[in-house]
Amino acid sequence: MQTDLNGIHALVTGGGTGIGLAVAQMLADQGCKVTITGRRAEVLDQVSGNGLFGMTMDVRDEASVNDMIENAISQRGPVQICVPNAGIAEGRALHKTDTAFWRDMMATNLDGAFLTIRACLPGMRDTDWGRVIAISSIAGLRGLPGASAYAASKHGLIGMIRSLSEEYMGQPYTFNALCPGYVDTPIVTRNQDAIAARTGMSSDAARQVMVDANRHKRLLDVSEVAAAALWLVGPGSQSINGQSIQISGGQTV
Ligand code: NDP
Repeated sequence: MQTDLNGIHALVTGGGTGIGLAVAQMLADQGCKVTITGRRAEVLDQVSGNGLFGMTMDVRDEASVNDMIENAISQRGPVQICVPNAGIAEGRALHKTDTAFWRDMMATNLDGAFLTIRACLPGMRDTDWGRVIAISSIAGLRGLPGASAYAASKHGLIGMIRSLSEEYMGQPYTFNALCPGYVDTPIVTRNQDAIAARTGMSSDAARQVMVDANRHKRLLDVSEVAAAALWLVGPGSQSINGQSIQISGGQTV
């Protein structure tokens, strides 16, 4: 049983910003060596250091994921904490959803998590402790009007996590999904602009739509998602497996 995270290699996709960065910094604070990935080198460079190691990687690109994770493993050892977090979120009515939009959503949010977990698992299985914490969404558990593609990708992610927890039952690895409501990150800022442009409402009113969607009527702070991830890597977490943990200010499903 792992009680000390010091020196453990963790990998967080999309770890240069938002939720991923908060989780990565929390893990580094615990003594982990944390590989953070994303497409923008300049974003990773800004936050690298103090236990964070930036690596550019596009989660939609199989060769990029395989090469970069192999490289990270050769430098820092097997990945024992894998956090598939990289994602995009954009609403679009289904009748206006073209195939390219649908494919990009799946390629990033679902294929990206599949490729990431697959590249990390062989090394993790050579160790006696591992954690996979996928960042899904409350939209992975319930329908979200005007966001069928996003919700489908996040539901799919939960299906993969639940299945992996069954596949590895009884072994020292757990697979869980965190399902946040709206969190104050660049995704929400971009959504705010998109909603305002689409509906003609003010930017503040567009933000309020997302605030009101959370049961406690405020945006979450990234630290609240990181706190749940800390619990899942901490002592006593070995029996929490295959769960989809809502972090949304109240029950929504
Ligand atoms: P951010 O936009 O800050 O984070 C998304 C991260 O994913 C960025 O660092 C981005 O880096 C990376 N990314 C996007 N596409 C790719 C790609 N093709 N390859 C590699 N990296 C990629 O927003 P959040 O922190 O909010 O989002 C993180 C996760 O949390 C997402 O999966 C999102 O769906 C989920 N989530 C967010 C909620 C919210 O309200 N904010 C609510 C529920 C879930 P780069 O652009 O440099 O590649």
